[in-house]
Formats: sequence, C-alpha cells, structure tokens
Amino acid sequence: MSTAETARPATLTLDNSYLRLPEGFYAKVAPTPVAEPKLIRINRPLAAELGLDADALASPEGVEMLAGNRVPDGAEPLALAYAGHQFGNFVPSLGDGRAVLLGELIDRTGRRRDVQLKGAGLTPFSRAGDGRASIGPVMREYLVSEGMAGLGIETTRALAMVATGQPVYRQQVEPGAVLTRIAASHVRVGTFEYFYRRGDHDSVRALADYVIERHYPEIADQDNPYAALLTEVVTRTADLVADWLGVGFIHGVMNTDNVSIAGETMDYGPCAFMDSYHPATVYSSIDVQGRYAYNQQPRVAHWNLAQFAQSLLPLLAADEDEAMEVARAALDHYAPRFEETYHALLRRKLGLATEGEGDVDLAMDLLKRMAEQRADFTLTFRRLADLQRDDTGNDETVRTLFEDPSAFDAWAEKWRERLVAEDSDDDTRRTAMRATNPAYIPRNHRVEQAISAAMREDDFTPMERLLEVLASPFEDHPEHADLAKPPKPEEVVQRTFCGT
Ligand code: AMP
Ligand code: MG
Repeated sequence: MSTAETARPATLTLDNSYLRLPEGFYAKVAPTPVAEPKLIRINRPLAAELGLDADALASPEGVEMLAGNRVPDGAEPLALAYAGHQFGNFVPSLGDGRAVLLGELIDRTGRRRDVQLKGAGLTPFSRAGDGRASIGPVMREYLVSEGMAGLGIETTRALAMVATGQPVYRQQVEPGAVLTRIAASHVRVGTFEYFYRRGDHDSVRALADYVIERHYPEIADQDNPYAALLTEVVTRTADLVADWLGVGFIHGVMNTDNVSIAGETMDYGPCAFMDSYHPATVYSSIDVQGRYAYNQQPRVAHWNLAQFAQSLLPLLAADEDEAMEVARAALDHYAPRFEETYHALLRRKLGLATEGEGDVDLAMDLLKRMAEQRADFTLTFRRLADLQRDDTGNDETVRTLFEDPSAFDAWAEKWRERLVAEDSDDDTRRTAMRATNPAYIPRNHRVEQAISAAMREDDFTPMERLLEVLASPFEDHPEHADLAKPPKPEEVVQRTFCGT
C-alpha cells in the first residue's frame, strides 16, 4: 500500500500529439460511462514502467478513470480514423469503433506510449457495433498480450481490466469489460490506406511525417525519409513475423487494420498458440480459407506491406514509375530480412551457436517430423535442450512427444552429428536453448479455463497462476508444471472466435 506521502492522485499526465494532426485523422469523443466499474486486474510491473502509481490506479477514483467514467484532467480523448483490407477486401472506413485513445504518456525510459480504453462505448466509427467489449475477449487479450511480452516479442500491452457491471449481447449475454491497452502507437497500415484511398495525399504525408518523428526519428534526415520509413516498417514486420513463428503463434486476423506501423503485435482476436505442430494450422473460426494460417503469415505480412508501400507511393517520388521502383526496392528487403531473422532463430532453437550450411534443412526436417508425428511445438524444443550431446543421455522426454518416437531418433542422430561441429558443451548449449525455447506459452485450453473460471465462479486464481508463469516463461516454475503441459485430448481447443 502506498503511504500518504507517496500516494499520487489517480490521474494521468497525458499529452496528445495525435491531436495536433489535421482534423480528419480522428473524432473527439469521450468514453461512455458504465454502470458499476469494478477492477479485475491492474498490471503492476507495467504501471511502474509507465511511471504510474498502481495503488492510485486501483483506487475507486483510478478505476473510474480506467472504466471511462472520469476523463483525466486535461485529456482530450479521441477515436482514430483508419481503413483496412479485411481478408483481402478493402474497407474504406473502419476506425476505432469501440476504443478511445485517452492520450499519450511518456514512460520511465522516455518512450511515448498510447493509453487506450478498449470497449469504451460508441464512437463515430462504431457502425453497427455497440462500442463495447465482453470480459472473455478482454481477458484473452490481457493474457495473450502479456504472454507475448513475457516471451520478449514486440506487442501492445495490457495495463488493466475493469468490469463494467453492464451486460454485452453477443452469441450469449456476457459481462462487459474495458481493457486499458498501451501501445507504441495505434497507427496501422490501414491508417495510411484510409487517406491514400481517398486521394488525400497531404494527409498521407502528414501521417508519414508524424510516424517518422514518433517511431523512426533516426531516418528523418535521410535523402528519402519516406523510402526509409517503408524499409524500417518492412524490417520490423519481417522480424516480428519471424518471432511469431518461433513460438508457434498464429495471429488469426492479419488484416491491414491490425498491422502496427511501430512493429508491435496488435489486436488479439482469434489468435492462438499451437500445441502440436502443423504448418497449416488455423484456429480462427472466420478464417475458412486458411488465409492467415501459421505458415501463411510471412507471405501475408509481405502482402500487407505492399499495401503500405502503395499508400506511400505519392511520397516516394514525383514520377510514378520511379515511385514504384523505390517501393519495390524497399519491399525487396522483406524476404531476405525475414529469412535471415527466421533462420537465425531456428539455429538458436536447435542450440547451434555457429552457422552451418545444412542447419536450416536440419531444422526443417525436425519440423516436418513434428508435423507428421503431432509433436508438441513448445515442449519439443524446450526438452531438446536437456538432451546430451553424446548419446549417453536418455531421449525419452522428447521422443515420447512423437507418435512414432523412432521418427525423432532418426533426426536426433543427425542433430548430434551437427553438434560435434559446435564448440559449446552441453551446459552452455542448454542455457542458451532454454533462453530461446520457452517452457510456457498461453496455451489455448489454459486461457479458456482461466476465462471460464472467472466468468462462471468469479475465480481469478487460474488467471493469476497463468499470468505468473507467462511473466517469466523461460524459467521452470515447478509449482505450476501443469501449465506447461499440452492439452489432454478432451481439452484441445479447435477453434477460436473473434467474439468482439
Ligand atoms: P477488430 O476485429 O477488433 O480488429 O475490429 C474491426 C473493426 O470493427 C474496427 O473498426 C473496430 O473498431 C470495429 N469493432 C469491433 N467490435 C466492435 C464493437 N463491439 N462495436 C463497434 N465497433 C466494433
Ligand atoms: Mg482491429
């Protein structure tokens, strides 16, 4: 508890640089108050990172603010305009239909971060929606985005969850909730498309200048800062998707309105982490074609970046052909960058500190066998760390993850041959592998159990337990070993839902 001396009032010192952009960029709109705000959870480490007093945020006054019932002094809340390609089709006007940007704050390290209330009520962009969020998806975003952060992958964060005391009407009636989302910014590929597709090239330029100043200040002085911006976003996105593949993450709705210009994972809808490995895995109930399947993500990210490039064309060069050429050159960085990052990651996952010619093939061969044998993605790599370099060890912990364990044995022989070329001993390799291959991911069945315990029994202990391991997923937590396990057949989650 904070003492009288240290307690700060429950307010936020916000600035809003986005407000200084031209009017068409947003609508000024306050969150709609809710009936009975009740704090579900506050993210204390994140509050500290943001320079906020968690106790003050958790106070009745703070909760009023997190619910949208009280706007902090001096704040001018906004709903942002954006468009986007949804499953390949352009939708000219999406925008924050149920999210309100309270403003921006400068965190402890000097970074500017957006503070947004998701589920905060109607905005001019709500279309047919109700502007609200229900507790299930809110808990899901909190758990999975914090899981992502724990894994060290770029992501928006979750600062708080507040129950509204109001029902939300979805497939069934659910309790309403508001999530406080923290992001490097909420500028998306779809924000650029919004203006480009209207032929409003001045706004495209204003947005690009804003993004460069906020996210990529180091390129401001380049000859062609807009080409440099494209290259930067290409690079960050390639790295992000490689990171996703490394942990078995499937975003599920890689529409251009869900692609952050700052390179953060954003918009956790029907996303999921794979249990048993298969490259074509899809969880989202609405992704019937498998457009956003696990192994499609690198290709789709490139497609999304091409939409970004197109929106920047008016800025890239005065001459149209030349602009196309500049765009193409920047987009051409994508494939080699993705490969470089992904291949390096695969090598680390296998415990290879040096670079050998057959390394990628070796990794691909393992993945192929894992897919055929339905091996658990996370556990295979995690347990591989513990195997011995000479064949004295006992491989049971890994081989039993394969339906036919001999499929692993054949691969392990090749892996051991390759390890001979490594300088490192087993201990060094184990330490490195355990820092790359997590023991814990937000497994779907655990996420669902946590949500259902909270909704049905008002029991938040499963959620707390899960959040504890997700905060340090590379460490063993013997008391929570059950959370590292794959689902039992009856626990397997086949489908995830947007359930917005
Ligand atoms: P999402 O699927 O969350 O990325 O949202 C896609 C679009 O639908 C965005 O413009 C959202 O603001 C909007 N949207 C989603 N859910 C709602 C809702 N309950 N009320 C209003 N707009 C919504
Ligand atoms: Mg979205």
